[in-house]
Amino acid sequence: MTEINTQNILIIRYGEIALKGMNKPYFEKTLLRRIRAAMAQAVQSDGGVRIAADGGLLIACGPALEDAAAEERLIRQILKVFGVSTVSKAWRIQARELTDIRAAAAAWMEQRLREGCPVTFKVFGKRADKTYPITSPELAADIGEAILEAYPDRVRVDVKNPEVSLYVHLRRKDVLIFDDSLKGFGGLPLGTNGKGLVLLSGGIDSPVAAWLMAKRGMQIEAVHFHSYPYTSKRAEEKVCDLAEILSSYCGTVKVHIVNLLPAQEALAAKCPDSEMTILVRRFMVRIAEKIALREGAGFLITGENLGQVASQTAEGIAVTDRASTLPILRPLIAMDKVDIMALAQEIGTYETSILPYEDCCTVFLPKHPSTKPTLPRIEASESLLGAPEAIEAIEAEVLSSETLFESGRVR
Ligand code: ATP
Ligand code: MG
Repeated sequence: MTEINTQNILIIRYGEIALKGMNKPYFEKTLLRRIRAAMAQAVQSDGGVRIAADGGLLIACGPALEDAAAEERLIRQILKVFGVSTVSKAWRIQARELTDIRAAAAAWMEQRLREGCPVTFKVFGKRADKTYPITSPELAADIGEAILEAYPDRVRVDVKNPEVSLYVHLRRKDVLIFDDSLKGFGGLPLGTNGKGLVLLSGGIDSPVAAWLMAKRGMQIEAVHFHSYPYTSKRAEEKVCDLAEILSSYCGTVKVHIVNLLPAQEALAAKCPDSEMTILVRRFMVRIAEKIALREGAGFLITGENLGQVASQTAEGIAVTDRASTLPILRPLIAMDKVDIMALAQEIGTYETSILPYEDCCTVFLPKHPSTKPTLPRIEASESLLGAPEAIEAIEAEVLSSETLFESGRVR
């Protein structure tokens, strides 16, 4: 059989960006930047691998891809980049002769046979270079025959349910050969859709909410409220661990850590016990808004989910909403808990989220929380704290406790 020079490459496809009109170059450029940064993390320096847009695809190549372990690391990192829909390991050959393409396709198949499993296959031909003298179906049939000839006792064609779907993509300057593709998360490249400040508790929901917004291109910053000494330092560390996990998808995540205890104590001393949860939540939102405005974030993000707990009734959410002039994004609002948990597992936050450390919301937890608060009632309760300046003073005290944690590496 003809010896043929094959180059290991990765084909990276983007989903939704392909649908963009005038803005496509901007999205593509941002995506390339994100992938380069992700690759640099996988192989120390990205010197070993280059990536460029090429005929509606992104193609990565370079010496790092000749090392199987480095290649695996690269793929794992690239699949985490929002905007990437799929990644395929592929061969690129420069040859134009059909005999060379046949030989390369047979050699690809042999790789698969060496791995043990496949016996059935189907070839998909794609002739992007219309000057090439045979059509796509003819190309597929020809390559199929070549593979059958090369391994007559070991493979057979199955057009309905093949174990290997082999793609031979004939382009103007090269030929790409690949089979399966690994699924990324899709979405849009980070940084293409504003910045949001997530209210990050140590629970299951809020990290998932942040991840979902980041997947739509939103840059993420976080605020965590604790009630030290009622809550432990371990609870804070858990939130930093969650931010660290998030940062593997969305670059540096800055976490503002503030002690909400002064607000909780003032509320506990003066306001109705049944309204504690909602009153505390409104304090969180007001303080988060101040941080967001300072940090240039145009949105707040929470893990709220309709009906999940007493503070997340329709009425509770409506009253919480009114505490902020910034839009509050609640990407989990209509999801079922089991689906949120499954997503938390998929993105890797679940195991950390379920560690049993106390949350500041459990301090001063009311025995009978109000589930149908109204804005006038809640505002009346807040006025028990004193004039607006008194509330401002409490907020300033809370903010003065702020410390910062920065997770992840800059992408
Ligand atoms: P989670 O799993 O995200 O903690 P939850 O089901 O426990 O959510 P709540 O405790 O009612 O629900 O919190 C609702 C939302 O309020 C959270 O998703 C989060 O965005 C925010 N929040 C709650 N507690 C805190 C906290 N200690 N610090 C920052 N944000 C918080
Ligand atoms: Mg919680």
